[in-house]
Amino acid sequence: MRQKTKMVHGGITGDEQTGAVSVPIYQVSTYKQPEAGKHTGYEYSRTGNPTRHALETVIADLENGYAGFAFASGMAAITSVMMLFKPGDHIIITDDVYGGSYRLITKVLMNFQLSYTFVNTANLKEIETALKPETKAIFVETPTNPLLKITDIQAVSELADRQGLTVIVDNTFATPYFQNPIDLGADIVVHSATKYIGGHSDVVAGLVVVNSAELADSVHFIQNSVGAVLGPQDAWLLMRGIKTLGLRMEAIDHNARKIAAFLAEHQSVKQVYYPGDVSHSGYELASKQARGYGGMISFDVGSEEAADRVLSQVKYFTLAESLGAVESLISIPAKMTHASIPRERRLALGIVDGLIRISVGIEDIDDLIEDLTGALA
Ligand SMILES: *Cc1c(COP(=O)(O)O)cnc(C)c1O
Repeated sequence: MRQKTKMVHGGITGDEQTGAVSVPIYQVSTYKQPEAGKHTGYEYSRTGNPTRHALETVIADLENGYAGFAFASGMAAITSVMMLFKPGDHIIITDDVYGGSYRLITKVLMNFQLSYTFVNTANLKEIETALKPETKAIFVETPTNPLLKITDIQAVSELADRQGLTVIVDNTFATPYFQNPIDLGADIVVHSATKYIGGHSDVVAGLVVVNSAELADSVHFIQNSVGAVLGPQDAWLLMRGIKTLGLRMEAIDHNARKIAAFLAEHQSVKQVYYPGDVSHSGYELASKQARGYGGMISFDVGSEEAADRVLSQVKYFTLAESLGAVESLISIPAKMTHASIPRERRLALGIVDGLIRISVGIEDIDDLIEDLTGALA
C-alpha cells in the first residue's frame, strides 16, 4: 500500500460488528472481564483503548515502524521517550530544537541527572566531538524551527549504530507523508500531532513510533506507567486528520513553493529560509531524504518595525503560534515562539528581530500571494 492509500485504509478501519466505516469512539475507561484475571484484549483505557489503538496502528504503518503510541501532547510524547534513559546518561541534541523540548531537557530532565550537549546536528563533526562514553542517544529535529536547518538522518543513524546509540527524530515539520526517519535508520520517531497530522488547529496530541519489539515493550511500559495518554475523542480526530494528510501536504507544498519563490524575488525581503530553495544550505539533503519541502518558510524583512508592519497588514495569515494547519499562520519568532531565548543566543542562531515565520495553509495561492504583496508594499 502506498502512503495516501495507507492514510485511508491503513491501520484498523471501521467496526466489524456494525459495519461502521469510521472507527467508533470508545469513550470508556474499563472493560468487563469474562473471568477474574482474563480479559478480551482491553482491561483499562490507560493501558489500552480501541480507538487509541486504531490510531497507534495507522501511525506505525505510516512511519514503517513496529508500533505506535499516542500521547496527550507532543511534549508528553517526548517526555515519555526521555523516560527510557537513566541518571548519568548523556544525550546529544539539535541546538535549535523546539523551545518546549529545550525547556524540558534543560529545566526538568536535568533534575533527574540526565546530561546533554546541544550541537548543530546538521554538522556530523559536531556530533562526533560531543560523544562521551555515557552517551546513549542522539535527538534530532529536522527540519528545524524557524530556520529549517536539515540534518542527515541516515548519516546520523550510521554513526549512532557504530556507537550503539538510539536515534530519536522529531518528524513534526516533515510529517510521515514527506519523510520516514525509520526507513533512514532512526529508532524512534516523535510527532507533535497538534500540527500537520491533526491539521485543523483543534487537537493537542503527540505520537511516537518505534522500530523494534524491544522498544515497543519499553515505551508501552512507560506509557502505561506515566499515563500521559491521548483520550479516545482526540484519537478519533487525529485519524480523521490523517485521512487527508497526503492531500493537505500536497496542497501546502504546492503553495509554499510559490510563496518561497515570490519572497525570494521581493525587494523588501533580505533573506528567505526554505529547504526547497536551491540556495538553502540543506536543499540537497532535503531533496534526498524527504519527498517534499513542507509548508514552513521564514524570511527576514530587516527590522522589528518592518516585521510588525507586515503582521498588522495581512488578512489571510492568522497571527498565532503553532503551525501545520489548513489556515495559514504568521508569527515573529523573536517575540513569540523564541522569546524565552536570550537575545544574544537568538542572534547567534540567526533568529533576528525582523524574521517572520509563516506556516502555509491550503487557501487559494493567488489570495495568499496578493495578501503578502499588500503587506510587504
Ligand atoms: C509543537 C511542537 C512540539 C510540542 O508539541 P505539543 O503538541 O505542542 O506538545 C514538539 N516538537 C515540535 C517540532 C513542535 O513543533
